[in-house]
Amino acid sequence: MRLLLVEDDDALRKTLTHALRGAGYGVDAVGDGRSADGALLCGHYAMVVLDLGLPDTDGMQLLQQLRQRGDRTPVLVLTARDSLDQRVLGLRQGADDYLTKPFALPELEARVAALIRRAGVGPARLSHGALEFDPLTRQAHIGGRALELSAREASLLDALMQRPGEAVIKSRLAHTLGDWGSELGHNAIEVYVHRLRRKLEPFGIRIRTLHGLGYLLEKPDAH
Ligand code: CA
Repeated sequence: MRLLLVEDDDALRKTLTHALRGAGYGVDAVGDGRSADGALLCGHYAMVVLDLGLPDTDGMQLLQQLRQRGDRTPVLVLTARDSLDQRVLGLRQGADDYLTKPFALPELEARVAALIRRAGVGPARLSHGALEFDPLTRQAHIGGRALELSAREASLLDALMQRPGEAVIKSRLAHTLGDWGSELGHNAIEVYVHRLRRKLEPFGIRIRTLHGLGYLLEKPDAH
């Protein structure tokens, strides 16, 4: 699932890109209105995170143009202008939600997930026996109890749960778990598989190693 992030502050754009990628989204990040417009015209995004104060245009204007051409992509506006007037104006012009700077990253992630879910474009929750995983919020539960997972453990579980009982090849995991543009080493993948196993095995959920190939999540009734 791909998001467009429009933010002109370099440091903030990097931080937000990193956080959203860590939460499992593909992110295209741009720093001005012109690039944002170009990206929106050619790309298809699950949602847009839009800063209002941009160097070449006002984010609100960008939003207005987007809605005028009938594009209903959900938009989360980031703004330092926390006055009520701006919020009302923004919502009238088609923003779906607001976040006032400064904000905490988990708050941003929660709002993004909620907007995608509300728009009905998010992936379905996955379940595997007593284990449940929400690919959007990256939260896992077993028998209703929350399971603590790191970002990479969550990505690994996501990949395995997308295809239970089927092989997930190691090179695909290297790509999925790696940072943008770089792959994770195969030894590192083994470390994450080991950690995830330790969390799942007490509940009878097993990850089988297929030597030289990859891993598979055993079907709950496979033993
Ligand atoms: Ca700005």
